[in-house]
Amino acid sequence: MSQIKVNNPATGELIEEVKVNTTAEVELAIENASTAFDSWKKVNAHERARLLKKWYELIQLNKEEIAKIMTLENGKPLKESLGEVNYATDYIEWYAEEAKRIYGRTIPAHQDGKRIVVTKQPIGVVAAITPWNFPAAMMTRKAAPALAAGCTFIVKPAEETPLTMIRLVELAHEAGIPEHVVQVVNGPGKEIGEVFTSSKDVRKITFTGSTPVGKLLIKNSADTVKSVTMELGGHAPVIVAKDADVDFAVTQTIASKFRNAGQTCVCANRVIVHESIVDEFSEKLAQEVKKLKVGNGLEEGTDIGPIINKGGYEKIVNQLEDAVEKGADVLTGNEYEANYDKDCYFVQPTVIKNANLDMTIMHEETFGPIAPVISFKEIEEAVKIANDTPFGLAAYFFTEDYQTGIQLYEQLDYGIVSWNDGAPSAAHVPFGGMKESGLGREGGTEGIEPYLETKYLSIGNVE
Ligand code: ADP
Repeated sequence: MSQIKVNNPATGELIEEVKVNTTAEVELAIENASTAFDSWKKVNAHERARLLKKWYELIQLNKEEIAKIMTLENGKPLKESLGEVNYATDYIEWYAEEAKRIYGRTIPAHQDGKRIVVTKQPIGVVAAITPWNFPAAMMTRKAAPALAAGCTFIVKPAEETPLTMIRLVELAHEAGIPEHVVQVVNGPGKEIGEVFTSSKDVRKITFTGSTPVGKLLIKNSADTVKSVTMELGGHAPVIVAKDADVDFAVTQTIASKFRNAGQTCVCANRVIVHESIVDEFSEKLAQEVKKLKVGNGLEEGTDIGPIINKGGYEKIVNQLEDAVEKGADVLTGNEYEANYDKDCYFVQPTVIKNANLDMTIMHEETFGPIAPVISFKEIEEAVKIANDTPFGLAAYFFTEDYQTGIQLYEQLDYGIVSWNDGAPSAAHVPFGGMKESGLGREGGTEGIEPYLETKYLSIGNVE
């Protein structure tokens, strides 16, 4: 393969062909990043902040164009693409500010005549691999802290959505960030991933994508003892307690479940509702979900775009068929449409009731617009269902009772816990998962640490 064909998932039309970089080209990019690191790490933090700020401004100036590219290659509704551009630039703005706050410290010494100083320095060349579901934000939340810290950065976007990223990197250069400080390479994940992990010069791998690929990258990073940050799969529970505000829980569950056609790692995957309100909640949820319009993301009024590819579509349909076979009641949806010739796939947003724990959908990430509702009696049972998974990224719950709320917050084994809130992500908060959902955090003050080494200086014999 010498070219990647980037197609519009809503129509099957070819948008553009992108050159695949050869192994030699990726190796050269690493070499160039390594040379550029020697000078970039010396650029003072205020200047790095200024350049990041300029990049932020250029993306904002071009946001309509970038959002359109994103909708064309990813399929998400234009309003969501615009939202993502803002979310993506929030990271650049936040880390432009954080660049100036990479503090060290001094430690009181244990002997006279000694001084102890702790400083931070950039880790080196960073290689990033990103997914198709957030073509801009999954890059900026890695690139911005890396560049702010003084690292140089190479990114390989997903084959489905390289165009947004190519444009973002062009704008970074236009902003004055040197060409070899931030670079994009294109091609199949496996080949480029191996070049990244086998290189001695790459000191950090940062990845967002599936858990199996993340595990492989961790293994392959062991030989050169690279630092890794991993944002992997999720299987988010939504617990709706008996005292929840049902109408509010419905709108927030929709916000969490149906964003990007259900194709995000923090999308609600299982809705666990107290038996006393399960009928009311499910009916209201179905009523609202029925109003969501499926279609081409460029068309006004579209709420749910296409499914990204055949693999994603078949996984969703299999989970749905399995659930219906095992006794789920369909309240709305359960309709899907594949055009295999054009490679276009659409799934109607679906609500199913009477889900049970034998169903695949209750154990595996769906990455599609299906909301399975299961009921519970005691809150302990809801916690048990929620925690019974190898994943631990995001969990949501709805309750007006603060005892229940604190209990749920403390007992849920998730990196992100959202109480009466369907949209917890933001640039200034630590996003990341426990267990097999990942390693490390992105965003917030935590999100720059993985790009920094800690160095300690011990001075003796001070008069
Ligand atoms: P998804 O199934 O959602 O596409 P993946 O984990 O396969 O998730 O893809 C996320 C990113 O990982 C993409 O950029 C893809 O090219 C890359 N990728 C896929 N397989 C590998 C691999 N073996 N090594 C490194 N990167 C990979």
